[in-house]
Amino acid sequence: MTSRWTADVDVLIVGAGPTGLVAAIDARRHGLSVRIVDQGAQRSPHSRALVLHSRSLEVLDDLGCVEPVLRAGREFRALNIVADGRPVGRVEFRRLDWSDAPYPMWLSIPQSETERCLEERLNALGVTVERQTALRALRETGRGVEADLVRPDGAIEACRSAWLVGCDGARSDVRRALGVALDGDTSGEVFMLADVAMESPLVDGEGYNVLAREGVLFIVPMPTPGRVRLIAHLPDARPDDPPDIDLPMLQRLVDTRTGLRTTLSSLGWTSVFSPKHFIAKSLRVGRAFLAGDAAHIHSPVGGQGLNTGIQDGYNLMWKLGLVHRGLAAPALLDTYQAERHPVGERMIRGVRRATWAMTLRVRPLQAVRRRVAGALLRFAGVRNRMGAQIGMLQLRYPASLATAPEPLSAGSPRPGERAALQASTPALSARLRGTHHTLLLLDGLHEPLTEREAQAATALARSFAADAVEVVRVRREASSDATNLHDPDGAIRRAFGAHRPVAVWVRPDNYVGFRGDPRSTETLRSYLGGVFSNAAPLSQEATGSQGSRKRTV
Ligand SMILES: Cc1cc2nc3c(=O)[nH]c(=O)nc-3n(C[C@H](O)[C@H](O)[C@H](O)COP(=O)(O)OP(=O)(O)OC[C@H]3O[C@@H](n4cnc5c(N)ncnc54)[C@H](O)[C@@H]3O)c2cc1C
Repeated sequence: MTSRWTADVDVLIVGAGPTGLVAAIDARRHGLSVRIVDQGAQRSPHSRALVLHSRSLEVLDDLGCVEPVLRAGREFRALNIVADGRPVGRVEFRRLDWSDAPYPMWLSIPQSETERCLEERLNALGVTVERQTALRALRETGRGVEADLVRPDGAIEACRSAWLVGCDGARSDVRRALGVALDGDTSGEVFMLADVAMESPLVDGEGYNVLAREGVLFIVPMPTPGRVRLIAHLPDARPDDPPDIDLPMLQRLVDTRTGLRTTLSSLGWTSVFSPKHFIAKSLRVGRAFLAGDAAHIHSPVGGQGLNTGIQDGYNLMWKLGLVHRGLAAPALLDTYQAERHPVGERMIRGVRRATWAMTLRVRPLQAVRRRVAGALLRFAGVRNRMGAQIGMLQLRYPASLATAPEPLSAGSPRPGERAALQASTPALSARLRGTHHTLLLLDGLHEPLTEREAQAATALARSFAADAVEVVRVRREASSDATNLHDPDGAIRRAFGAHRPVAVWVRPDNYVGFRGDPRSTETLRSYLGGVFSNAAPLSQEATGSQGSRKRTV
């Protein structure tokens, strides 16, 4: 075996699943040079995660690959809850309150297709996944990360990168090499998955959650008409003795639990699993980060794993871009942990509860579950949760360095909340799209901002963020200034609750960082001082590194 040293790269991404691909695309967008390696010889052909949620589609839009994803997928029309052969609840997705989201849907698309679209986008940005290339060891040196990569011919290459992101899945070698422990547990329950063609009286293109005495069954529409994903709890199976999945077994299971006459055929991918719920104690060690399943492992029952990984990459890369350019203090990187770790924890708590409810064996409790499910879905608020909340549109980040304390109580969105790419204000959406920060200076609905006040806020923003910020004035009056956004009917200002003049700082991931009075620049200064700095090149101390250590996986 030979050893060789490669040219430096800004970011090394380990793992080319959906999280790694999103991280690589976004790193390129933020001007970082990237290598992305994967130990597999090819993309996984398995369908795995089947649902892309509303917020993920927004992110993919910003990354430039939502169109092929929409073409490859199929929108879920409705989710039906059925118990003892009778409908007990129904949610029609298009009729929910989606907070004006541009993609108000659950999109059914196999993970293999999502990954294909992402990889094609990455290739278009000039980056190719290096396959059959596995991380074997890494050393975090404070000035960078040295990784030993095993190449397809068995040679070991030492790759030196400024940053490393471990997107290498649930069994993450990066996590192990960094010595980051997991918190959590594995449920003793057994579930099975199967992709299959199904003829039945059920409506094609709708999902079903069948609450049967024999166990819960989900029927999830796949993009090809007539094909479905079956997910079933197997209460009598043991994790150490998983059953064989074949067509006769599935046919019996579906007919018994639905009480319908169905015909299954063309069995595709199958899997048997025990739900696991784990979270890494830390998402960052010096210059190395964990994202996606490497950071948090949930049961597929929640359908949130892939979607959460997409948001991780999108949250991290703009911060790395700023710090790498020396425009932001390294402390900004701590906000990745502060913002994403609680999201992972909440997700795991929710999925654990859902898994518990789906695996009830005691008959009286099953009856309660049936009644509660039916009753709850009669409330619009509960139905809407299935759109906006499960769609991750309402996901809020806590106050952290990148999220100024909220100076105003009225209006929306607030700091820490998503600044919707609103369907009803497309001109604003167009200005937010991209890798820049945006300072919105909104006239009040009843009171304009003066030219001098706007200039002072603009100068302040530029003194911290230089060319990383675009300043957009939102005004009632039309103007020849192309940086202005004409808002004659007040739609944008109402969306931001701008009764008086308001300054809103929107981050590249379209979250509100700051909201305040643009005439009192001290609060904006204090926010910008927390996020941006003309920092000296990163030092070992600044990155929180613990010095050079050899860690072997
Ligand atoms: C049976 C099953 C069903 C699922 N169903 C759903 C669902 O319905 N909905 C949902 O949201 N989620 C589901 N998931 C979860 C979803 O698939 C994951 O959340 C998602 O794949 C996570 O993406 P990732 O990129 O973080 O990790 P992964 O997709 O696991 O990708 C990790 C990549 O890292 C590579 N790698 C690993 N180690 C190394 C190394 N040392 N060096 C180089 N490369 C390495 C691997 O080859 C792999 O390509 C399911 C998972 C399973 C297993």
